[in-house]
Amino acid sequence: MSCLFCKIIAGEIPSAKVYEDEKVYAFKDINPQAPIHVLVIPREHIESADCVNAENSVSVSAVFEAIPKVAAACGLENGYRVITNVGEDGCQSVKHLHFHVLGGKKLPENMG
Ligand code: AMP
Ligand code: ZN
Repeated sequence: MSCLFCKIIAGEIPSAKVYEDEKVYAFKDINPQAPIHVLVIPREHIESADCVNAENSVSVSAVFEAIPKVAAACGLENGYRVITNVGEDGCQSVKHLHFHVLGGKKLPENMG
């Protein structure tokens, strides 16, 4: 298994866990871009949002069910931003679908 985030899910690489359930794992980003920066990922390996289909979308909906719980656990009651980068132009560096949850301050309006 060569995927970094699959290794984190398997516990082979340490991470700062924020939340987990049967289908989802969430942990602090190692290089935070905001006071709160958590990555929410499906346990199922899906390469990116461009690879979501009828067979794996149950894992994606589980991620979106988990995000409000992650936000509450992190005290993001004033709002937050959810981002997923896709492929080369999207600057996706880890090829395991992940959603950045950013908050803890008023975020910039510009998104690229
Ligand atoms: P992306 O650029 O959208 O693919 O996001 C990948 C994210 O993973 C970046 O924000 C990195 O800081 C983060 N990251 C890389 N390695 C680790 C790690 N071992 N633990 C936590 N976050 C990581
Ligand atoms: Zn993976």
